[in-house]
Amino acid sequence: MLRAALDLLVPPLCWACRGPARDHLCAGCRRALPWIEPLAPRRRGTLLQQHWSPLEYQGPARALVHALKFRSAIALAALMAEQIVGALPPRAFPPDGALVPVPASRMRRRQRGFDQADLLASELSRLVVLPLQRPLKRQAAVASGQRGLGRSERLSGRGLKVSATREAAVRVVLIDDVCTTGATLELCAKALLAGKTESVSAITYCSVH
Ligand SMILES: [Zn+2]
Repeated sequence: MLRAALDLLVPPLCWACRGPARDHLCAGCRRALPWIEPLAPRRRGTLLQQHWSPLEYQGPARALVHALKFRSAIALAALMAEQIVGALPPRAFPPDGALVPVPASRMRRRQRGFDQADLLASELSRLVVLPLQRPLKRQAAVASGQRGLGRSERLSGRGLKVSATREAAVRVVLIDDVCTTGATLELCAKALLAGKTESVSAITYCSVH
């Protein structure tokens, strides 16, 4: 009832084109979602068993990521998780696996008040009924010297430090919103494989090609 009353006062808008929309995206932007077809697991780097990413980082998919990250549209995490589950085959979610969000730096988390990868992983955990674990910790960008690095160096993962603070599951599926070079996923996998984890795969909502 409250939602209906609010919709009358402030009609819901599409997060991608700002036109009228129900459920966050208008019909046109839903149709324009840049699905990667045919979808196959990617092999990037050496440590990940497989990496699934159903969408390209462009168009309405990019708009949703930005709205979640920079405009605190945290309700979008549920929509994005539904899109991921709808697009990926069941084998992307091994039944004995645990979902582990790629951690944001503590500074970022403090600035935003939330961590988008964590929100996405929580929603996925609820949908596919797999445990959520948070064993990874990321050192603040300033502390790890990232402030002095150029964009390409940041993208390559140089200066980024990730460590596993607690024991994670034997089989881990890393969760993040966007994959650019894959360097962060590799660092997370490395930290996990240094402990008891034996296999790491990754799911990102979208990726840069
Ligand atoms: Zn739209």
